[in-house]
Amino acid sequence: MGKSKERTPPQCEGARQQATDWIVFILRRDSECERCKCELGKGEFICLTGKQVLCLECAGLSHLEFLPSGDVAITRRATKYSELHVVVMKKSAARKRSERQGILAEPEAIRRAEEESAADADERSGRRKKAAKQREKVDKKYVAQFARAIHRQYPGCPEEDGTEIAVHACKKHSGRVGRSAAAKEFDSTAIRLAVIAHIRHKHTKYDRLLERYGNKQLARREVRDQIDAMLDEWEQPVQSMERMSGRNG
Ligand SMILES: [Zn+2]
Repeated sequence: MGKSKERTPPQCEGARQQATDWIVFILRRDSECERCKCELGKGEFICLTGKQVLCLECAGLSHLEFLPSGDVAITRRATKYSELHVVVMKKSAARKRSERQGILAEPEAIRRAEEESAADADERSGRRKKAAKQREKVDKKYVAQFARAIHRQYPGCPEEDGTEIAVHACKKHSGRVGRSAAAKEFDSTAIRLAVIAHIRHKHTKYDRLLERYGNKQLARREVRDQIDAMLDEWEQPVQSMERMSGRNG
């Protein structure tokens, strides 16, 4: 224990900077500090300084408090207010990599971060809601545009089919915004492919055939004619179809 007093605490100039490269791990098995030889059990913190594996006491981090990940605003503020902070990781056996668990920061910094974040929580949630609304608006616009583009190319495509295709395309599209991305998706080839996929899944036995054959090529070959026929039909202007059905009826 006496030895630990000889170390250079990271609060000192120079050492503080070094500490930014340090990583603290939550132990998954028993270990010991390379300096004071104290035993550290599963679930305890250990600091990797690059040269040594140290207990928090020897690393000069024992004055810090653990702040688990979860609230982005609190973590961001605590990081800002703390003179020193260290990232805390834990090795995940299942995923074979280390995952961030939180940070060690000064208790006063964490308290201040928590208080400030509680004070403007409503404002932040309001901003989030506004952003969600904005996204919804963009999505609706996208669906409408896509549906119109489908209708131009396939005037005979029933409205509910057009909307369904557009909604599906929008789900794939979501996250990507910008005119160039949208334009790419509104070109005739992209629309044709979207329409074909829709017909295949909604108007043929493709899904059942795929399950039975376990082979995409075989299943696709069997429904190809049916898809082509429906594409031909949808390419016809609605008027002529109405005349046709009028004649039939
Ligand atoms: Zn130690």
